[in-house]
Amino acid sequence: MKVIEKVNQMREELEKELASATSSKEVSEIRVKYLGKKGLVTELTANMKELSPEEKREVGSLSNQAKEEFSKKMEEEEKRWKEKELYQKLTSEKIDVTLPAFEMVQGSPHILEKLTEELEELLMSMGYDVVEGPEVEKDLYNFELLNLPKGHPARDAQDTFYTKGEELLLRSQTSPVQIRTMLQNEEKTPIRMICPGKTYRRDDDDATHSHQFTQMEGLLIDKNISLADLKGTFDIIAKKLFGSARQTRFRPSFYPFTEPSVELDISCFNCDGKGCPICKGTGWITVGGAGMVHYKVLENGGYDPKEWTGFAFGFGMERLAMLKYNVTDVRTFYTNDLRVVKPFDRKEVE
Ligand SMILES: [Zn+2]
Repeated sequence: MKVIEKVNQMREELEKELASATSSKEVSEIRVKYLGKKGLVTELTANMKELSPEEKREVGSLSNQAKEEFSKKMEEEEKRWKEKELYQKLTSEKIDVTLPAFEMVQGSPHILEKLTEELEELLMSMGYDVVEGPEVEKDLYNFELLNLPKGHPARDAQDTFYTKGEELLLRSQTSPVQIRTMLQNEEKTPIRMICPGKTYRRDDDDATHSHQFTQMEGLLIDKNISLADLKGTFDIIAKKLFGSARQTRFRPSFYPFTEPSVELDISCFNCDGKGCPICKGTGWITVGGAGMVHYKVLENGGYDPKEWTGFAFGFGMERLAMLKYNVTDVRTFYTNDLRVVKPFDRKEVE
């Protein structure tokens, strides 16, 4: 059979096959059958070696023509099918906008975070800076410079986790941030700062203890600062957190870094001072500790105690939150149970 006849026959076959194709995929398969590396058109030139130069030219020319013609035909068919398929896809996948939408879950700040921010906002309005410090701390800043030398009995109450020998530890209080701020302030100007953050102690976890908890400490250093200034500051904080009817009082206490030291009490918000289980019948609730900065701490921070005085105060944020929101187990704050956090996500009436 002559090459030209073979090509004509192939064309007829191809047209039949294309006419019965039902998808772009099938057209693509037909393309491989005819124009692939081992396709029918390529086969036309399979025995070229045995042909005369004249025949070679004819076969070469015819097979090239066929390749071009068939290729164009199949391209058109493939395009037609693809358009058709796209249209079918678009019409079958129509989005029904009347379907109900998925409910978006809205997050809310953790209660400890919320309370911390509330206190930060109040104290910043009184001129305090918010300062942060490392949670892995040197013994020097966590204890020694705060008038807690090695072997001091008050260290027992703050046993913590040591990461490297006896020198590096997880801070047992946020007070190291205070001494760091005093040392960093080279001009020795007045200081007003608060340092909220995580703290750690070697405690067995129970309803009121946790090995990790949150503190918010404050430090004020200036000239002629007295306990009266501390009392006024505490009064503002207490009223902001627990209502304007709260009364405040100091009770003598001991902390190595303050002298004198006091416990910060508020009149019971539950019984208004008459006595109830929350205040254990006393009418008062202890919410924090404070005192006038010890002269040794002032010296360690580079401040001359003859010239400067100051006060420091500290709150446990978990304790404040437990009192304010009537939470009975401190471990509640660290579980991932969203049902616990959710009830706090509301606008409170002032
Ligand atoms: Zn009470």
